[in-house]
Amino acid sequence: MTVDTILTGKVVSPHGVYDRTSIAVKDGKIVSIGDKSTMPPAEEEVDYGDLLILPGAVDTHTHSLGTAEEGHWNSTSAAAAGGVTTINDHPLDLGGAPSSSDDIYTKAEKTAKEAIVDFSLLAAGLPEKMDNIIEVADKGVTGYKMLMHTTSGAHAYGMRAVDDGELYAMFERIAKVNQVGMVHAENEWVINYLVDKYTKEGKTYLAAHHETRPEFTEVVSVHTAIEFARALDMRLHIVHVSVPRSFDLIMQARAEGVKVTGETCPHYLISNEDHWKKVGSHFKINPPLRSEDSRQGLWKKIREGKIHMVSSDHAPHPGVEAPNVFDNPSGSPGIETMVPLVFHEGVHKGNIDLPTFAKLMSYNPAKLMGLYPQKGSIEVGCDADFAIIDDKKEWNIEAKNLRAQSGWSMFEGMNITGKVLATFVRGTKVYQEGEVIGEKGYGKWVKKTRNYDL
Ligand SMILES: [Zn+2]
Repeated sequence: MTVDTILTGKVVSPHGVYDRTSIAVKDGKIVSIGDKSTMPPAEEEVDYGDLLILPGAVDTHTHSLGTAEEGHWNSTSAAAAGGVTTINDHPLDLGGAPSSSDDIYTKAEKTAKEAIVDFSLLAAGLPEKMDNIIEVADKGVTGYKMLMHTTSGAHAYGMRAVDDGELYAMFERIAKVNQVGMVHAENEWVINYLVDKYTKEGKTYLAAHHETRPEFTEVVSVHTAIEFARALDMRLHIVHVSVPRSFDLIMQARAEGVKVTGETCPHYLISNEDHWKKVGSHFKINPPLRSEDSRQGLWKKIREGKIHMVSSDHAPHPGVEAPNVFDNPSGSPGIETMVPLVFHEGVHKGNIDLPTFAKLMSYNPAKLMGLYPQKGSIEVGCDADFAIIDDKKEWNIEAKNLRAQSGWSMFEGMNITGKVLATFVRGTKVYQEGEVIGEKGYGKWVKKTRNYDL
């Protein structure tokens, strides 16, 4: 057998690190891993020396259609440049949140014409269209997004905060079809009360954003969602968790048999609530950046294995700076900087080892979404999705070099160590040293096939 490509380097899998190891790729799949001398003949050989060959990152949380400017060509170009080989596109789409199989097929068809990395699709859990939860369950979607808070732009996507009864009713249906419910957990009513109060008092300065969303407004919603999931034996995933205490609740519930996981995001791991002093309204995100204690608390949880994955929550929007903080949109571009930032703060600074990094960025997300073993690891039979990382390369994050259409970065000017050198999707190089070389429409829809207990 002659294979298409052999890549050699320092191979990192969720299970270990293997110096000077070769990976043989044929028809987009990994067919052999081992010493170079054991490899079959190949059309092409690439030797990356001591550079890292990691499984491509799997982002559970990407918003590509939330603004007219972004779209899947831009979001997946940014993904490719950031070592992300699969995005899970969330349903907060301009023009309406997809919830039925017709909606999902239409979105998949459009996305496949634009994307250069692979994608999976998350359906919307809508209280007005609860029957769709059952109808779309086995059509390859990775689960359902539900909002407990009317987050930035939600109305433009046909979504809103659901009340507890609606949430419970949707969870009932999700449990019935043994799917995964993904929840934005923030308490709508307390936040609304505090924002009203601040507005009436004329307190509309930048820091008012996190002051009106204290940590408990996340924790109480996490608690509610967990108790509903416990009562219904439903698979629950809490997106963009920002508070260490939320992970305490998640871990305690897991120990008691509740099927619950949580993800955090690079911004909660890199920046704290004082970040507005550096970047103005670009710090604004839901849930908000937290205290330095909480930021460090999240790293402690990661070191203890109590956080399952990191997602980008890539939500680029034009960075307007209205004088009233509450008039500014929330959300941040982030998919291109996710892998380098977590590598820098995690691996480079010694918080985590390389296999843990591969678990956080690739393996656990792929399992949560039922995309493993096609995605998420470097094993024989997996898709040949790789991020080649130069672990010693220092560079500065500059928005002008990033591909999101928002044109700004929350991490502007940050000097970090560790850079994505090249990205492969199913054996094809889609990004190399500053240039996206993937073909528009190369990306494929990856369907969920089963559930895993993480
Ligand atoms: Zn989001």
